Amino acid sequence: MNETIAAIATPLQEGAISIIRMSGDEAISIADKICTLKLTDVPANSIRYGFIVDPQSQMKVDEVLISVFRSPKTFTTEDIVEINCHGGVYITRQILKLCLANGARLATRGEFTQRAFLNGRIDLTQAEAVNDMIEADNHANAQMAMQGIRGSIRRLLDPLINDILNIIANIEVNIDYPEYDDVVQLTNDLLLPMARSWVMKIDEILKRSESGRLIKEGIQTAIVGKPNVGKSSLLNALLEEEKAIVTDIAGTTRDIVEGNIQLGNFTLHLIDTAGIRDTDDTVEKIGIERSLKAIENAQLVIVVLDGSRPLDQEDEQLLAMTEEKTRIILYNKRDLMEKTNEEHLTVCAANGEIDPLLTRLHELYDKHLIALKEPSLANERQSGLMMKARRCMETAIEAMEAGYELDLITIDIQEAYTALKEILGEVHREDLLDALFSNFCLGK
Ligand code: GDP
Ligand code: ZN
Repeated sequence: MNETIAAIATPLQEGAISIIRMSGDEAISIADKICTLKLTDVPANSIRYGFIVDPQSQMKVDEVLISVFRSPKTFTTEDIVEINCHGGVYITRQILKLCLANGARLATRGEFTQRAFLNGRIDLTQAEAVNDMIEADNHANAQMAMQGIRGSIRRLLDPLINDILNIIANIEVNIDYPEYDDVVQLTNDLLLPMARSWVMKIDEILKRSESGRLIKEGIQTAIVGKPNVGKSSLLNALLEEEKAIVTDIAGTTRDIVEGNIQLGNFTLHLIDTAGIRDTDDTVEKIGIERSLKAIENAQLVIVVLDGSRPLDQEDEQLLAMTEEKTRIILYNKRDLMEKTNEEHLTVCAANGEIDPLLTRLHELYDKHLIALKEPSLANERQSGLMMKARRCMETAIEAMEAGYELDLITIDIQEAYTALKEILGEVHREDLLDALFSNFCLGK
């Protein structure tokens, strides 16, 4: 007997409609008890018009539409009832209370999706994709989530998992029946190229997932430059609002000012840093240290130079410091330049004329969108396990190269296999699962 769970599935605020959702063996009979309709024999996937009634007082509570879905072809594979009521906070809570008073238990966060997973309707990556869809804030993220919901990660991993499983089975037979003629005798020479091709496949998937991560999490971007070159003006132009303080006085941007911009499918997390230069002023020093940190942590550095003046030692120092980073070198104050160099990116931050920068940003990042036409991993959990699988496979390869016996090598191959299965949730730990689903919305 499966406990029936209930929750409000829509945001708890005034709106056109709210939905209260129940899932479990008693979902239909509980709903039946609290409405004017006879729900116990309505066919699957039907929607009925009626009234919610408090069985104790016999008072009509609200006018509703009730959808009935019957096991097993439902989101959770269990019987599901969804009550569409008027979208008031009070009335929505009232109907949930009636469900709870008549036999349902309040669902925990993500419990509907967790049941869909535990009942085998979706794998763990699909469950995660459901949550990604809810959180998606641009086209690319929504598309990635859509692929994930449709099981793209399983399709990506299944061939690899099956290949490895076949080899593990083969090794077992080789170990157990060394004399058995019908089985291919696996040797390290036969195994090595296979294991190497698996590592290559894993690397390919990991590389693509990096593009996915950039889209999903945004790009940490530091704006650096000595005082007065126009960093704050640039940040303002990018943010199109007065969030950063623009001033004539050098070195006043001691605090890092931050903001996010949405650039097509990418989010830039922008940080305007204090002017980097040698100074004795302690307050400013702290700012400089933070700038250095910001450069270190940034995935992209925008180096701002004053194009109306010749570069000085400080500028050169900055350019040297950021040489290893993905960077854009920007010559600001184009309006004050006597002649512009064709090779330089020139802008006028004060007037919001920053199109060359936006074009350059698109050039830098649009290639990641192309990479995402292929399915990729969706989060840290998945890529962490993928990296674990890679490490184990590398260890197996080293053991093969050193000429170890099959029974030793197979341990590492099995560990790699388990890590891959764990991505799909086919091997899982209860406590990790609970933690994962607790990030979901209530009623999801
Ligand atoms: P920061 O210290 O690098 O953050 O520089 P600010 O953004 O505070 O700008 C310093 C000064 O340069 C301010 O007076 C701005 O108005 C001015 N400024 C910024 N960008 C431009 C520009 O494109 N052209 C001109 N003429 N002045 C600019
Ligand atoms: Zn500034």
